[in-house]
Amino acid sequence: MSDATDLIARIRGCRLCADRFAATATAHAPRPVVWFSPRARVLIAGQAPGARVHESGRPFTDPSGDRLRGWLGLDPDTFYDRDRVAIVPMAFCFPGYDARGSDLPPPPVCARTWHAQVMRALPELRLTILVGGHSHRWHLGTRASVTETVRGWRDHAPRVFPLPHPSWRNTAWLKRNPWFEAELLPVLRQRVREVLQGEARNDRNDAPG
Ligand code: SF4
Repeated sequence: MSDATDLIARIRGCRLCADRFAATATAHAPRPVVWFSPRARVLIAGQAPGARVHESGRPFTDPSGDRLRGWLGLDPDTFYDRDRVAIVPMAFCFPGYDARGSDLPPPPVCARTWHAQVMRALPELRLTILVGGHSHRWHLGTRASVTETVRGWRDHAPRVFPLPHPSWRNTAWLKRNPWFEAELLPVLRQRVREVLQGEARNDRNDAPG
C-alpha cells in the first residue's frame, strides 16, 4: 500500500469527533469525505462538508459547488478528477448544526491531526485555492478578515489564491465587492487552465515514444 493510500484509509477510518458530533443538533456520526490523489496539481482547500455532502460522500455536491466550479471555469468531470484536483477541507466531516440551525465551524482537531500529513502527500501541487477564512488562517497564517485577505490576492498569486466561501450566504459580499469577479476571477481561471494544460503537456512528454 502506498503512503498516500494508507493515509487516505486512515482518514476514512477516523472517528475522533464521534462524541462531539453526537452532541450536536444533528447527532450524526463522522463520515470523512476524502478526495485527493498524490498526482493532483490543483488543491482546493475548503472548510468542511455541509449536510448535502455528508449525504452524498462527494465534496461540493451542492449550490456552493456549482458556484465554485463557475468561479474556476471547471466542468464537473475535471473538478472531480482526483488525479488533477485535490479537495481537502479543514475538517473532513460535516460538523453539524447548532441549536439555531447554523453550520458549526470545522473541529480544529481535524486540521491538527491530518492537514500537514495530507499536504506532504501532495508533492505535485502548482496551485492552491483557499476557500474561506479557516483555510486562509491555516495556509497563510493570517489573522486578517476574509475581505482583507481576498483583497490582497495579488500578494499570493499565482501559486495561491484566497477566496471567500462560495455559499449563498456570501451573495451580498459578492455584490459589495465587484472587483472579485471583475479582477480576481479572470486571473484565477487563466491560472487553472495553465496548470491543468501543463499537466497534459507533461503527460505527453512522459509517454513512451
Ligand atoms: S472531522 Fe476529521 S478528526 Fe473529526 S472524525 Fe472527521 S476526519 Fe476525524
